[in-house]
Amino acid sequence: MTDNSNTRTTSPEKRLQQVQSQIARALALSHRAADATQLLAVSKTRSAAEVLELYHLGQHRFGENYLQEALEKIEALADYPIEWHFIGPIQSNKTRDIATRFDWVHSVERVKIARRLSEQRPAQRAPLNICLQVNVSNEASKSGCSLDELPQLAAEVTALPNVKLRGLMAIPAPSGDPEQQRIPFRLLREALEQLNRSGLKLDTLSMGMTDDLGSAIAEGATIVRIGTALFGPRESMGQ
Ligand SMILES: *Cc1c(COP(=O)(O)O)cnc(C)c1O
Repeated sequence: MTDNSNTRTTSPEKRLQQVQSQIARALALSHRAADATQLLAVSKTRSAAEVLELYHLGQHRFGENYLQEALEKIEALADYPIEWHFIGPIQSNKTRDIATRFDWVHSVERVKIARRLSEQRPAQRAPLNICLQVNVSNEASKSGCSLDELPQLAAEVTALPNVKLRGLMAIPAPSGDPEQQRIPFRLLREALEQLNRSGLKLDTLSMGMTDDLGSAIAEGATIVRIGTALFGPRESMGQ
C-alpha cells in the first residue's frame, strides 16, 4: 500500500523515484524482469507545466482521460516527443482527434469505436496502439466489454488495418485487501493468455493504479497507470 499523505509537500522528483522503486520492488517480488512494467503517468487535471516537469525528469509517457483538456496540453507540448495515451471514455463523435493526436488508446470497448479510429488514423502515422477495456469485476463505472464478448471483439479489432491490438485494460473495483485485489487482475491476465492461445499476439496488460499497483504487477501488468502517487491528490474533478 502506498502512503500518499505527504504527496503535496514532496517534490515531483521524489514522488517519481518513490513510484519507480515501488514498481521495481513489486517486479522483484514476483521474479519478473526489472523492465517488465512501464510507468504511464496519468496527468488528467494537471497542467502542461506539471507534465513538462516530469518529462524533464525522464518520464515520457502520459495518459489523459478528457479529450478537450488533453488536446490543449498536447498542443502546448508539441515540441516534446511525448507518447500520449488516451485512457478515458470515448464518445463516437470524438474519435477523429483521438485517432490523430494519440499514440495509444486503452479504453476501446466497442467495435464501432475501433472502426472509426482505424478509418480516421492518418495514413502517414504508425497504426494506433489499442487495448480493449474489459469489465472483470462489477466495476463502479460499468465500462468495458464483458469477458464473454471479448473474443469476438478482439477478432474484429485485429482485422482492422490502421490500429494494432496490443492487449487488455481494466479498472477493477477497489477491494482494500491486496490478495483479493489480485483476483480481477488475474482474470484479465488469463483472458489475455486465452486470446494468445487462440492465435493472437498480445503483449500488453494495462492494469494497476496508485492504490493497487502491487497486486497488478504481481499478476503481470506491463503498464501501470499512476496519477495520485506522482502528482498528489486531485481536486474533485477526474475521479
Ligand atoms: C485517474 C485514472 C488513473 C490514475 O488513478 P490514480 O489512482 O490517481 O493513480 C488510472 N487509470 C484511469 C483509467 C484513470 O481514469
